[in-house]
Amino acid sequence: MPEHDVLLDVQNLTIHFKMYGGLMGNKVTGTVKAVDGVSFQVRRGETLGVVGESGCGKSTTGLGVLRMVEPTAGKVVLDGTDLTSLNQKEMRKFRRKMQMVYQDPFGALDPRMRVLDIVGEPLLIHGLHKNKGEYKARVHDLLERVGLNPNMANRYPHQFSGGQRQRIGIARALAAEPDLIICDEPVSALDVSIQAQVINLLEDLQEEFGLTYLFIAHDLAVVKHICDRIMVMYLGHVVEITTRDALYDNPQHPYTQALMSAIPIPDPDAETQRQFDGSLQGEIPSPMNPPSGCPFHTRCQYAHEACSAKKPVLMETETGHQVACHLYDPSASDVNADDVMKAPLARTG
Ligand code: SF4
Repeated sequence: MPEHDVLLDVQNLTIHFKMYGGLMGNKVTGTVKAVDGVSFQVRRGETLGVVGESGCGKSTTGLGVLRMVEPTAGKVVLDGTDLTSLNQKEMRKFRRKMQMVYQDPFGALDPRMRVLDIVGEPLLIHGLHKNKGEYKARVHDLLERVGLNPNMANRYPHQFSGGQRQRIGIARALAAEPDLIICDEPVSALDVSIQAQVINLLEDLQEEFGLTYLFIAHDLAVVKHICDRIMVMYLGHVVEITTRDALYDNPQHPYTQALMSAIPIPDPDAETQRQFDGSLQGEIPSPMNPPSGCPFHTRCQYAHEACSAKKPVLMETETGHQVACHLYDPSASDVNADDVMKAPLARTG
């Protein structure tokens, strides 16, 4: 990817949380490896989806990018500046460039504040208005842009529906004039009928304002329409990253295949002809005690000897398509993907 195209460059991001216990509560009893050496880039104007089951580290990755959680190691480079090297004061000006839209639109909005003040708060914090009149006009404009009537600016969050509250959260994020918005499961708390409206709104705003999105979701069905590329995470690791089309047409990692097979197919005939059964067995292991070798080996139907002994690294299997699995690495094991994954995967429509 040409360097000038890259807005966000995350290098070996590692976020470990120490767990404390003992009589005085000050003894380190373990370490949760929430994010364990994650690297990826996001181009200007693109949407990178981050997908995985809960506990895979996707939301913590988002919080680490924003430095709302301090990384244990690694770099987060935004537009050429390494954010992890900045002190809190220096970080403040970069905070404006990165905003977050949260999963729970109600919990994210202060119930005691009017929408005028919720959406306008970033204008105050970052000094983005000259006077009261401009403040009000800007908030009204933002509300209009997200499809809300500006006359509702004096209402409180509880007077809005779930979808409207998410629109308020989006307007608030836009108020800071960000380059990057981290959308953390922005539609998963909404009715299915409203989800598409909010996704369409995010797409329209991206085009209008040239925004870049990191779009976090727990399943592949949601990210299908909005993402240009998709990164699949499992237990704090990236297991596959590629373009949206390559991922849906040719998912290569066994975990991605399992997620893919969980997407419902609306046509019952197509559903019965689904040839690949990659259904996930068992629970995701604890990030306090992750499996040795490949983190997925305890649930993988293709696991073989090398898998518990050696951690697979991300390697390019075709242009722009990276996978972390020994089946694609002849130097790691003599079992290969062609031998074990012969059954073609039914397209998910
Ligand atoms: Fe499965 Fe082994 Fe590949 Fe891990 S490395 S996904 S256990 S085949």
